[in-house]
Amino acid sequence: MKIEALSVFPHCYDSIMNESIMRRAQDKGILDFKAHDLRDWTHDKHRTTDDEPYGGGQGLVMKCDPIFEATDELFAQAEQKPYVIFLSPTGQRFDEAMTLELAEKDHLFFICGHYEGIDERAYTLADKVVSIGDYVLTSGELASMVVIDAVVRRLDGVLGDEGSAVDESFYDGLLEYPQYTRPANFRGMEVPEVLLSGHHAKIEQWRHLQSLERTYRLRPDLLVDAPLSKDDKAFIDSLRAAAEEQR
Ligand code: SAH
Repeated sequence: MKIEALSVFPHCYDSIMNESIMRRAQDKGILDFKAHDLRDWTHDKHRTTDDEPYGGGQGLVMKCDPIFEATDELFAQAEQKPYVIFLSPTGQRFDEAMTLELAEKDHLFFICGHYEGIDERAYTLADKVVSIGDYVLTSGELASMVVIDAVVRRLDGVLGDEGSAVDESFYDGLLEYPQYTRPANFRGMEVPEVLLSGHHAKIEQWRHLQSLERTYRLRPDLLVDAPLSKDDKAFIDSLRAAAEEQR
């Protein structure tokens, strides 16, 4: 997959994109990443990318002309027009379903805002506008890295152990079960005995029930859409009944 970002702070990407799994994805040739400096498409001495808002008000708005010049030039070099994503608190809320949708694309192009936001006319370039949550960041770079990280780890061959994405939170619509590693007893806190039993079927079952219990307790909203078996539903009902009784 090819991923590009257009930013006034392209060096923001240096650390995250050059460590750990994001680095490995590039070394393995699965990911081709490049961050472009929007200022390269300005023509004045100060390399200006922002200006005062029409109609007045506080802060500065990013100009649309350097963004159009940059995308005109970069898209002309691409084999196909990339899938263009703007980061904005006004966008569609990012979630695991969206990571899977974006992981299917060959080429993603992120446009990061800064200051008060971007001239509205630039959004005519967008295939999707994405928000990473209901809060306001100072700039789009961090938000784009959240999306890039979540999408890239979904690409085939990126995670060392292919199974590790399968067991995780949200994969089957549920939160992940609790995990433990050595030592078996730490300051009196014991690892659940079933995990030491070597009995794979029992471990699977315990993990599944833990996932259900956790999701019920921490994120009951997820249960509405989770694919639950008859037994799962009965288990959730028993949790509900126990909670009612305690009240
Ligand atoms: N004035 C704008 C916020 C601008 S914040 C508003 O009220 O909607 C500056 C930039 O940070 C945005 O252009 C966007 O790229 C990024 N950003 C801020 N919060 C974000 C969020 N929750 N999700 C994605 N991008 C965000």
